[in-house]
Amino acid sequence: MSDMHFETAAIHVGQDPDRATGAAIVPIYQTSTYVQQAVGVHKGFEYSRTDNPTRRGLEQCLAALEGSSHAIAYASGMAAITTLALTLSSGSRVLLPDDVYGGTYRLFAKVMNRLGVEYTTVDMTDIDAVSSALENSVQLVIAESPTNPALKILDLEALASVSHRAGAVFAVDNTFATPYIQRPLALGADVAIYSATKYLGGHSDLVAGSLATDDDDLAERLRFLQNSVGAVPGPFDCWLLLRGLKTLGIRMQAHSMGAARVAGWLSGQDSVRGVMYPGLPDDPGYELAAAQMAAQGEPLFGGMVSFELDSEERALEVCERTELFWLGESLGGVESLIEHPGKMTHASLAGSGIEVSPALIRLSVGIEHPDDLVADLERALKA
Ligand code: PLP
Repeated sequence: MSDMHFETAAIHVGQDPDRATGAAIVPIYQTSTYVQQAVGVHKGFEYSRTDNPTRRGLEQCLAALEGSSHAIAYASGMAAITTLALTLSSGSRVLLPDDVYGGTYRLFAKVMNRLGVEYTTVDMTDIDAVSSALENSVQLVIAESPTNPALKILDLEALASVSHRAGAVFAVDNTFATPYIQRPLALGADVAIYSATKYLGGHSDLVAGSLATDDDDLAERLRFLQNSVGAVPGPFDCWLLLRGLKTLGIRMQAHSMGAARVAGWLSGQDSVRGVMYPGLPDDPGYELAAAQMAAQGEPLFGGMVSFELDSEERALEVCERTELFWLGESLGGVESLIEHPGKMTHASLAGSGIEVSPALIRLSVGIEHPDDLVADLERALKA
């Protein structure tokens, strides 16, 4: 199994024909409990918070795609990050990027702080600044690359090495890149984090999350917490996610091709102040991205593009004018989305000192024809 290519594993691992019926697709085991033959004698499943056959198939497939020993599924990306945070004790400190998903920031600034877990934000493109911040007894470092929403590229190998030197666990939120493009564990991370709601699911029809690790002790703790906290995905969401994973590779190729086209076009527009896309050769993250993001031996940069206009007013106008790019939160679906991070996904950063630019727009480039997407943006920017 382990020597299968990504595309093959996505379709076969954890997805053997059903032993009872021969069903070619993993059934939705929509059951809360399992009948036991005698007390404690059962077929490997006791209660669906603890384990469920549809979820088990999904977790096996996720681990194969990550190339990890363990993958554990959660009810959402935030449930995954919260469960990881619950491995910490009161008095611990977490290091976050200064360009971090608003929900992750909110979790540490407004929830975990009440339990005595402190946090620091730092520009993680600056490894010296990270090293200094680590001197303040940090137990967990959470990086994102590309970051959300400014699409900065972080040097994951360097961050892993300074985190480990300081004795901290190093986790990477790999939601934007996906395991098709970037393997954080191979770059030294201890944990890969996913909002599976996004590219892994790929069709904007579910909310789920996952964590992957090669560390057996950490996996055991995360599994214990998965059952103890109970933030688990239901069987139907696991089934939808398994279906989405089958096409992850070809979707990421299409998203990346569309995003490259859109980013290239935006860079040529006078009314656009700056385009953030790691696949643009003049992007500050280009060389690092080309080294740590690849599929089938070729650099691949993903489907997210951000850009800045002259003012917040202009940015809000453009967000409301596109037709194919639907105005909405989330990302990673086959349909293109546009959003204003300052007022939408990252509104929870208000007052934090690490707010995003009010003139910023974030695009999740779908797999529609890139010509149609460019025409839509052209119309919206001109109007
Ligand atoms: N991490 C990143 C990078 C995200 O963009 C998001 C959601 O937008 C999350 C985590 C949280 O995931 P979920 O919405 O599935 O809880």
